[in-house]
Amino acid sequence: MTANITANSPGAADLAAADLAMPDSRRNLIGLTRPELADSVAVLGVPERQRKMRVSQLWRWMYNRGVDSFDAMSDLGKDLRQGLHDNHSVARPGIATTLQSTDGTIKWLLRLADGNEIEMVYIPELDHGALCVSSQVGCTLNCRFCHTGTMPLVRNLTAGEILGQFMLARDCLDDWPDADGLRKISTIVMMGMGEPLLNYDNVAKALTIIMDMEGIALSRRSITLSTAGLVPAMERCGRELRVNLAVSLHAVTDKVRDKLVPLNRRYPIAELIQACRDYPSANNARRITFEYVMLQEVNDSLEDAHELVRLLRGIPAKINLIPFNPWPGAPYECSSNNRIHRFAAVLNDAGYAAPVRTPRGRDIMAACGQLKSASEKQPAARRQTG
Ligand code: SAH
Repeated sequence: MTANITANSPGAADLAAADLAMPDSRRNLIGLTRPELADSVAVLGVPERQRKMRVSQLWRWMYNRGVDSFDAMSDLGKDLRQGLHDNHSVARPGIATTLQSTDGTIKWLLRLADGNEIEMVYIPELDHGALCVSSQVGCTLNCRFCHTGTMPLVRNLTAGEILGQFMLARDCLDDWPDADGLRKISTIVMMGMGEPLLNYDNVAKALTIIMDMEGIALSRRSITLSTAGLVPAMERCGRELRVNLAVSLHAVTDKVRDKLVPLNRRYPIAELIQACRDYPSANNARRITFEYVMLQEVNDSLEDAHELVRLLRGIPAKINLIPFNPWPGAPYECSSNNRIHRFAAVLNDAGYAAPVRTPRGRDIMAACGQLKSASEKQPAARRQTG
């Protein structure tokens, strides 16, 4: 690690210490649908005629105001607040480590109630910012260049754990709505650890709550879901969620893509591209983002660039060229600047926006899976940097 890292903010550290010290067996209400919340208040004795109103009140406190304790929910009545407190929580994931890069990027290693760890990253831009959220602990896809694929343990995150990441980030950045209307987190990218479409139900549940107009109310245009190409679920995502789509393409021939993204053996490039053509929001106003990691002499030739143009013909697309972020033992190297810019020029000449994604947070290892794996190499006592 480098000298650029700043320690946890006191607030974050306190929260982490409290959460990590006391595993909470109460049922977390974050991530429940309105009918599920109605069941929870019914068990606490709220009569049927009041349930809808109580659920609306709870919903607004949780998702509009972002309060993290029932005590603050002043219009619920003392008995209901007590009942909720005794049986439920609105706890976010715990923070194991917070790292802040010199470029403003913040990366959190989060600890879930069962002790598993995931990563979350905030990437500030000039007038807004993106939050990169995880969908699974680890990942089963084993993309050769991705560090998360080297981690043994995998489980789906619950809807509450996915949504809880966003709520925690708003807590940490003091970003719950107030009068000014400007939010630090203006977009969500489902580009953290895991393959979101392999955990479709929980991702969909979390995103549906995030888009609910009486709560967080982020528009579907502010949300981008990134997939390695799980073709059948892409169709469902387009039909049900209609969020922006990003596709981790990374290669233009099946031979190379089979190796880089093994999922390609099940859903080869032609099927994937067809699914992109069919994606309902693929019109000029809402382009599909194609992610392309630049790997020296693997996928970065001029022929590859021309083939990419041919493949994407007719699809409203933007191509994000991602300089490979190396990790210890990685079998690849990042393409030279020269090769990246030659590649980009071919795409630009064909009329595509092809920004080279500036590496962010390199000093805090902000590539997929790197913080978590550094943490696993340290004894537990040292990990709690709070
Ligand atoms: N499973 C999803 C989302 C998670 S990864 C997907 O595959 O899209 C988010 C993006 O980071 C993907 O495009 C992934 O291929 C890319 N990525 C992973 N490791 C990387 C690395 N070491 N350098 C550059 N990009 C990487």
